[in-house]
Amino acid sequence: MIAGLQIDHVGIAVKSIEKSLQLWRDGLGASVSEKEEVPSQKVLVAFLNTGEGKTELLEPTSDDSPIARFIEKKGEGIHHIAYKTEDLSSTLTRLKEQGAQLIYDEAQPGSHGTMINFIHPATSGGVLIELVQYPAAREELS
Ligand code: ZN
Repeated sequence: MIAGLQIDHVGIAVKSIEKSLQLWRDGLGASVSEKEEVPSQKVLVAFLNTGEGKTELLEPTSDDSPIARFIEKKGEGIHHIAYKTEDLSSTLTRLKEQGAQLIYDEAQPGSHGTMINFIHPATSGGVLIELVQYPAAREELS
């Protein structure tokens, strides 16, 4: 069952989280989570607490990180929009049945104990869409 769709976060590719925080934290006053490395994506992430829809800064940790390749091709900027799903696996099954192209065959571990996958922009109107499922015990993160 589809119980509506909520934006979890907007992901922004940056060369350096520390440098970006001069604007986001020091200039705009956002509070910022601890940085966390996400090995499956070869990125370091930090979340800005911007209400229910958070802002994620992603810094590549390796030259072959998807974020490194994105920055090389397009420069820093908005990389994806993430939506919460309560049942990632059935959502992925439904999307596959509809012919949507997913980035990974199986969900991958994301930050904060989440499971994630992405819909390829080729089948989602040019927007890279991340789907996030939180661990059952803690639906919301501060
Ligand atoms: Zn994200």
